[in-house]
Amino acid sequence: MDAKLARIVQFFASYPIHRHKREPWQVLIATLLSHRTKDEVTHVAADRLFKRFSSIDELATADVTEIAELIKPVGFYRVKAVKIKAIAEILKNKYNGEVPCDIDELLKLPGVGRKTANCVIAFGFEQPSLPVDTHVHRISNRLGIVHTSRPEETETQLKCLIPKEYWIKLNPAMVHFGKSICRPIRPLCETCKLRDVCDYGQQNI
Ligand code: SF4
Repeated sequence: MDAKLARIVQFFASYPIHRHKREPWQVLIATLLSHRTKDEVTHVAADRLFKRFSSIDELATADVTEIAELIKPVGFYRVKAVKIKAIAEILKNKYNGEVPCDIDELLKLPGVGRKTANCVIAFGFEQPSLPVDTHVHRISNRLGIVHTSRPEETETQLKCLIPKEYWIKLNPAMVHFGKSICRPIRPLCETCKLRDVCDYGQQNI
């Protein structure tokens, strides 16, 4: 790593983040619920669902209408209820009720994209993985550590640039930083601690 990247990585590695520990299947379902939904709404809906159904096997036999009622009002809750039921059935029948710790297998599940699959590996199995969402993609490009147009490219480049031991920490730290400081609109560059190493911050003095 060059000095600029090392500084940025250290900043996010020491970022104070407290994550709620969940089982891999719960991370998978909660991440699906989080699409187009605020965090507060996602957490409440996920807790309600996991209180009623405590395993993949139980979810696989659940009624779709009941799942929808439990996860309401997350965005697209009816569509997500159908996907959750389908995923639970596949995991029960093809994977013995377990979530595979393999990104290619996870990507075969309905509605599971790279970000969700990486979240399961990172936060469910606590294995090195780097979920790239809109915050990670935007901040990485603003800082100038990548120059990419799609999150998938950002993921590939970040994985080449940053040592594995830092991967898990990067997403939650950047998400928090992206909501509070490096916001999509009107980022708080004047008070940002990374401004001296940020391409965007330097160009917009
Ligand atoms: S200087 Fe501005 S653009 Fe750069 S990381 Fe900080 S808030 Fe984001």
